[in-house]
Amino acid sequence: MAGFFKSLYNKITNRAEIDWDDLEADLIGADLGVRLAGGIIDELKDLGRQVSAEDVVEVTRRQISSKLPPNAPPFLLRPDGKPFVILVVGVNGTGKTTSTAKLGHWLQKKGHSVVMAAADTFRAAAVEQLQRWGDRLNLPVVKGAPNADPSSVCYNAHQKAITDGARFLLCDTAGRLHTRHNLMEELTKIRRTIAKQDETAPHLTLLVVDATTGSNALQQAKEFHKASPLDGLVVTKLDGSGKGGVAVAIYEQLGIAPRFIGTGEEPDAFSPFEKDKFVAEIL
Ligand code: GDP
Repeated sequence: MAGFFKSLYNKITNRAEIDWDDLEADLIGADLGVRLAGGIIDELKDLGRQVSAEDVVEVTRRQISSKLPPNAPPFLLRPDGKPFVILVVGVNGTGKTTSTAKLGHWLQKKGHSVVMAAADTFRAAAVEQLQRWGDRLNLPVVKGAPNADPSSVCYNAHQKAITDGARFLLCDTAGRLHTRHNLMEELTKIRRTIAKQDETAPHLTLLVVDATTGSNALQQAKEFHKASPLDGLVVTKLDGSGKGGVAVAIYEQLGIAPRFIGTGEEPDAFSPFEKDKFVAEIL
């Protein structure tokens, strides 16, 4: 049981009777969202008997499971051999660059060739960081000059991926959530530029959300989804104080499913989303 639910469990066990308002506040505090927390409380009340800590965990597990999609679908390689293009988007600090590198590593371990585009050109540190990951993991990185146009970096990287016959192109995009208008423009331009060489691309847009930031992540998902349609989530920092509940709220409200989870700073601390494991992790 994760730390949060463990303390909740102990709290309930040590009480003669459930304090419903307190429990609801705790569930909302676990970033499960008001609706899901309400649903859990209703189901517990419907039991019509003295509710135990086990009941709370069991009902929460069942409700979360019923709200999450099944395991993430596998990536399909393009039958024509062209690169499958993945845009990685998210707010700075969520673990976007790290997750891009980890995803590249994960694909490489599966035997696929990967090119990464350092398109977070606004932050020189992000470009250097991706380059360091590329050196460490032996993954090619395409960069631009400082403050280069992110879409031109993606274009060049796409070109390289096509020329090299790489099966995947991963674009680490700018993470500043300034005004929505600018973000929308930048991401739209990147999408348009990528489509120039392959009108079916990009094939997948992943939003990186930090599980420790709670309901902020839901707001970020809403903003990014307006700017660039999202296909899935990478939920990072589940090893930390992250409660992961926000992924449930994002899926419930926006229909964006978790695809990968990050559980540490090392390249292998990354795996495809599996519902049962994820629920066990949250609880
Ligand atoms: P970006 O600004 O979104 O590109 O974020 P970074 O990739 O630079 O990551 C920010 C910090 O979070 C770095 O110190 C990473 O090592 C760390 N980080 C990323 N993913 C995880 C994770 O799954 N678990 C933990 N504990 N740290 C992570």
